[in-house]
Amino acid sequence: MAERWTNWARQQVCAPAVIERPSSEEQVAAAVRRAAKEGLPVRAVGSGHSFTDIACTDGAMVDVSAMDRVLEADSSTGLVRVQAGISINALGEALEGHGLALENQGDVDTQALAGALATATHGTGLAFGNLSSRVESLRLVDGRGEVHEIDGGDELLAARVGLGALGIVTELTLRTVPLFTLRRSDVPRPLGETLDTMDGLVAGSDHWEFLVFPYSDVALTRTSSRSDEAPNAVGERKLWLQEHLLENAVMGAFARTGRALPRLIPRLNATLSKLVSPSTKVDRSWRVFATRRAVRFTEMEYAIPRDCAREAVEAVMDLVERRRLPVTFPIEVRFTAGDDAFLSTAHGRQTCYVAIHQYLGMEYESYFRAVERIMDGLGGRPHWGKRHYQSADTLAGRYPEWDRFAAVRAQLDPEGRFENDYTQRVLGPVRQPVAG
Ligand SMILES: Cc1cc2nc3c(=O)[nH]c(=O)nc-3n(C[C@H](O)[C@H](O)[C@H](O)COP(=O)(O)OP(=O)(O)OC[C@H]3O[C@@H](n4cnc5c(N)ncnc54)[C@H](O)[C@@H]3O)c2cc1C
Repeated sequence: MAERWTNWARQQVCAPAVIERPSSEEQVAAAVRRAAKEGLPVRAVGSGHSFTDIACTDGAMVDVSAMDRVLEADSSTGLVRVQAGISINALGEALEGHGLALENQGDVDTQALAGALATATHGTGLAFGNLSSRVESLRLVDGRGEVHEIDGGDELLAARVGLGALGIVTELTLRTVPLFTLRRSDVPRPLGETLDTMDGLVAGSDHWEFLVFPYSDVALTRTSSRSDEAPNAVGERKLWLQEHLLENAVMGAFARTGRALPRLIPRLNATLSKLVSPSTKVDRSWRVFATRRAVRFTEMEYAIPRDCAREAVEAVMDLVERRRLPVTFPIEVRFTAGDDAFLSTAHGRQTCYVAIHQYLGMEYESYFRAVERIMDGLGGRPHWGKRHYQSADTLAGRYPEWDRFAAVRAQLDPEGRFENDYTQRVLGPVRQPVAG
């Protein structure tokens, strides 16, 4: 019987004909050739942390999590060669042993490195690009089962954020930075004051973001900057309260109550946002960037031009409150530098990311679609791994290098071996260039 596969949020389910678990590049190539012979489509899978059906297939699913080693680390250049299936958490720990670190990360680190790169996973910090902006080169098995070393040109600009549509990445070279300590301060502030001073707050630290619960006027601001202090110096007890009790246990209890009694949500959210007190964490960067998420939810996130941040947040808050939408999870606002990967959500512009969430078991679609309409009006690009309702037709005009990505895809996967429902929807079928 076919093995069932489910994503982290337990909302995407598929039954691949086979799940391959290669432990070497040769085995990855053999798996692709085997699938081709049997006429099966192929999808690489990471840790299943995407909220969309991006990793789903009823063909051959290729899980490279056994390929999880750091192969080389050069502390003098910061260049590190790793296998594609390593988790971001394991990478952080291994890099520490070499006196190195990733310059920026998202808010969890359980994803597989190649999975996170494929959707342009990002953290916050206007001076820093998303994870994929640090990829110097990679190796990939194409749709014919052939291996390519990609270290520049259109192939690299396409493959850095490849949506699993170009091939199966087996190894990567990343540019890392010397190991550093981060001081993170969480401070609740009035939302109005936060929006008024947002530009200065974003520019005034390495990594700045905020969360706001609908129906509340408190923004939970999170500011992290590089520090010379000793790691683990302060704040252990408060931190435990904040990270484990409030962000997980209390958050879960409020979300369950809100799901059972939606009319209480405005009061619950206002109360929850007042429970947050200032806290500080000082530790090695990879232990500060990532937090634990025990409460499951679904999510949409849009990348918009940085200057539209305020307009977007106010429009989403207004939408929820005007329509009395039952939303128990916060809106999260982050910022990154622009970059040049063809399908990076931050392609060519400084970017503000606005993420919205809904607790599992609660209706999300009307909320997400209404927010998507707001983001459409702001030139928004959806996170490839988070829910959205776009298609190739609506997306092509938002990516100036769309056709260059399509050309690389046609070269590496001429028969559409790596297609699935998601790529059919958001990229369209593989198109061979018209001759002449
Ligand atoms: C709790 C939680 C927190 C999150 N926080 C953030 C955040 O802070 N910032 C952010 O930007 N996103 C965040 N995300 C989204 C997440 O980072 C992305 O969806 C990411 O792509 C998931 O990585 P994964 O390893 O689970 O990949 P999967 O979801 O399994 O797959 C994603 C894509 O990667 C491709 N892929 C996987 N392995 C390979 C490979 N070896 N070669 C080629 N393609 C491959 C798959 O084919 C698929 O297209 C979060 C998600 C969750 C559930």
